[in-house]
Parts: sequence; C-alpha cells; structure tokens
Amino acid sequence: MKQSIVIIIILILFFSCKDSEKTNGIEQTATNNAQLYFNGAIITMASDEVAYAEALVEENGRIVFVGSQKDAESEYENASKINLNGNTLLPGFIDPHSHFGMVSNTMAQVDLNPEPVGTVVNIDDILNKLQAFKENHNIADGEWIFGWGYDDGELAEKRHPTKRDIDKVLPSNPVYLQHTSGHMGVANTMALEKLNVNAESKNPEGGNIERFPNTKEPTGLVQETAMYPFVGNMLEILAKDQSKYFDTTQEYYASHGITTAQDGMTDRNTIRFFQSQADAGKLNIDLISLAGYAELDSNIKDSTLQFKNYNNGFKVQGTKIVADGSPQGKTAFFTKPFLTEVPGCSNDCRGLPSLSQETINTLFLTAYKNDNQLFIHCNGDATVDMIIEAHENACKQLGQPLDKDRRTIIIHAQFSRPDQLEMFVKYKMEPSFFTNHAFFWGDVHVENLGKERAHFLSPMVFAHQLGLKPTNHSDATVTPINPLFTIWSAVNRVSRSGAVIGEDERTTPYLAIQAITSNAAYEYFEEDLKGSLSKGKLSDFVILDKNPLKVEPMEIKNIQVLETIKEGKTIYKRK
Ligand SMILES: [Zn+2]
Repeated sequence: MKQSIVIIIILILFFSCKDSEKTNGIEQTATNNAQLYFNGAIITMASDEVAYAEALVEENGRIVFVGSQKDAESEYENASKINLNGNTLLPGFIDPHSHFGMVSNTMAQVDLNPEPVGTVVNIDDILNKLQAFKENHNIADGEWIFGWGYDDGELAEKRHPTKRDIDKVLPSNPVYLQHTSGHMGVANTMALEKLNVNAESKNPEGGNIERFPNTKEPTGLVQETAMYPFVGNMLEILAKDQSKYFDTTQEYYASHGITTAQDGMTDRNTIRFFQSQADAGKLNIDLISLAGYAELDSNIKDSTLQFKNYNNGFKVQGTKIVADGSPQGKTAFFTKPFLTEVPGCSNDCRGLPSLSQETINTLFLTAYKNDNQLFIHCNGDATVDMIIEAHENACKQLGQPLDKDRRTIIIHAQFSRPDQLEMFVKYKMEPSFFTNHAFFWGDVHVENLGKERAHFLSPMVFAHQLGLKPTNHSDATVTPINPLFTIWSAVNRVSRSGAVIGEDERTTPYLAIQAITSNAAYEYFEEDLKGSLSKGKLSDFVILDKNPLKVEPMEIKNIQVLETIKEGKTIYKRK
C-alpha cells in the first residue's frame, strides 16, 4: 500500500513536471516571430482543384494566413520573411502506411535488396554480404544474424536461397532472412533448430513450411503464419537496440519530407516503448501506431491505452488486421486462380486467407462495438469480399448503420474489383493503395495474374472518380519510404522492364500528392489539423527543389526534399 502511494506521488510529480515543461514550451514558441513564406510555388492542396498561394504566414506552429503577398505583408509586418527562391512548398507528407518499427529494425540488419534499393543480383551476393556482416561487426558464433529485403523474383537464380546455401557461409550462427514482401523468410539450419522447425513439423494453419522435393526436410523457407515465430524472435532480439535506432529512424522519415509516420502493426510492448520515447520528448514528427489484432480484446480493456488521441506526438489510431498474404508471394487470396505454378498447391490455386471468416467477423464485431478504427491488410479480391461480409455482419449484429463514418481502411486493396470499390463508397470505407507495386512487381503480376487484373492494380483514378479519398503508401520496408517515388509510381505506373501497368490508372501528379497529404489526413481523422495549407492547420511543411506538377512525369522521383518543417520548426534541412 505504502509503496503504491509512493509510486502515485512519483507519477504525479512526473506528470506535473511534464505539464510545466509543455507550458514552458508553448510560451517559448509564443514569443517567436511569425514567419512569412513567399516567392515560391505554394501549393495549398485545399481542394480537388490545383491552387497556388502567393504567401503563407505561420505563427506558433499554426498557419495563420494564406493569400496574397501584399495582404500578408500588411497584416504581419513584423513577420520574419522566408524567401522560397522559386522552390515548392507543400503540406508535410503524411505516411498512410509503413512500418516505422521495421524500418528501425533494418538499421541493424544486412541489406539484401536488389536495385534500386540495394545491390544484390544473385545468391552469391547474399552470401558474401552475410559473411562480410559477421566479420565487420565482430559477431560471435551462436549469435543471431538477420537480413532483409531479398527478392527471389529479382535474383538471377529466380529462387529463394535455402538453408543449405546459408549454411555454406554461416554454419555457426542462426540466420533468418526476411523476404521483401514481409510475408515470408528463409532460415538456416541452426535457426530452424533453435525454433524447433524440422521434418516432423506440421504446417501451421494459414502457413507453409517449404520442403525439399520428395522429402519432409524443410528448405528453410517459412511462409505467412509459419514465419511468425521467426519474426517474433527477431523483434525480441532487435528490441535491445530499439532506442538507439529510434532517432535515426525518425530522421530518416523527416529527410523524406514526412511529418506524420505510421507503424503499421504494433504489439502492446512496442506501443509502451513508443510512448516512452514520446514522453521523453524524443519525437519531432508525429508517430501513429496501429495496434495488432491479436491484442484487440486486451487493448480495449486496458484503460491506460487511449485510442485516437496524441500524447506528446504519439497515438494509437486503431487496430490492424492482416487478412491475406502478398500477390507476388502468391499468398494473397483471389477469387480466380493464379496463372502460374503456386508452391505447395496443385489445383485451384487462389492463395489463402490468413484468418477465417469467423475470426474476421469477431474482430469486426469487437472493433465496431468499441468504436475502434480498423485497418485491414487485403491484397486479393477474395479477401476484400471477406471484409465486406464482416462489415455487413457487424453492422447488422450491432444495429449500426452500414454507412456510419468509421473510415474502415483497406490497406493495399491492390486487386479490388470495381464492384468492391463501389461498396467502399456505400460503406464509407477507404482504400490505401500501393502503386509502387507497378514498378517493383508489375511485370510479375502480369505473368501471375494476367494483364486484366494486373493493369487494374491499385486503381487510384477509378477510386477517385467514384468519390473515394484513396491514399497511397510505401509499406516500408517492403518498398522504399520515399514519398516522391510513390508519387512517381502513381503518375507513371512504369514497371522494372519499362512497361506501363494500366495506362488508364495513371494519376495526375496532383491526385498522387493528395494521396499523401489531404487524403492521408482524412484517413486518420486529422483533416482539421493537417493535409493542406489552410488557415488554422498545423505548420507541417515540406520544401522541394522542383514542382511535381510542372516537371516531366518521369523526373518526379528525382525531386529533392530541401527542408522539412514540423509545427513551424525545421526538423530536416538538406546539406
Ligand atoms: Zn504493411
């Protein structure tokens, strides 16, 4: 009892300290001068029409004026002037979906990405990099080594490495390599032994342990739920270095113009960790977590976990459900079969859902009952059907209207059919698309799914015409976090081989920017605070060296972020 009183007193002291610091902070900013931006392309993003403003004034972290330079100067004559020198000012980029924690973890892993992210061409390159990593970092025998970003489709051998390949160079360390899709990985012999995966192991529900032909011996490739123990183990081991990499990770996001970042599936421990970093005053961007569905019940009962509200720059927005796998890994769930061979499947190979309809129904029911916003990873159209069914079922059971403003977000929604997008409009669901796939896997999708389905991937234009507010994401670490690359892929939809993947779905640069500014603010219910350069909104800005609306479309990805500003403060400046 005594002890708990002491703890309560300490907590009160701690929080009152925090409060006064916060008050001091606000007072301090209050003495700052207003800042007047002029002489650049100030694109407001305030409506569906392109609009430029001559000048913008911000004061104390908020936009106080948008309009003509003459009016700005007479109304704010004491403001310090910031000459944009012809550069472009946009609202800070809002990340509709990536994995902040995974990006942070890659900072301690071997980069096995093919170009343009990394340099790996074949399996030997992977093995050389693994060997060099062990040597350069003085890693002792028996310690875990992790790699990320390898892509079997981009390797010269067109296959996954096996445990035997990895054993050749690292026989005395447990090794786990995460595939670029985030839906599978390869372990070596020692790693498989450590996690008790062997010839006797059965495939878990919703997962696959790949075997060598005509044997039960695992190759090392573990897919979907079979991968979870390996990822869990990896996260646990890398957690030790979490705070070391937290700052570098947010600097990395800020260097790309991002002022609001997402962690696309966060367990309760990591939520605590993020909040502790935020409470220590470490956050200079906003960070949004989506809590993992496995903890939905306990999270809702946890009175210390408040959804939707920022606390020192961090909030948990809602809950993330993973309903299927990846289309390039052939684990996304479709209504029509893949056109090419699917490993471990002999007929009617349509991929697989990660959860049963019953489980998804229960999750929807719990979430809708508690006004908890849902974000559901769906790639194939069969999974989207399951989500629509779960939505209808939950509304019916709870007696809630089908079109209540819940903003249930379908993450990826890559192969949604036109009729499903129409249902999204009816049910106030929003798609968060993934046009980077057109570049990274567009050619593979044409092969595996046929031209018709592949060319309609992430149909931004169709969705926009229906009146939806599509966002567009990187899903980093799956593809690079760079929002200018995301704009570029939405506008051009050019594949690695140079083919255009769905000419009709190429967006205007303006719509591609809306997807990571105003529409992304809407996704998080933050349209009153962020997403456009409008009076009263936060002074979250990005300054670019060129105007994405004016350059040659293929040049968009070469545009440079010069400066990132969060609530009036510069958090990144290009050297
Ligand atoms: Zn994701």
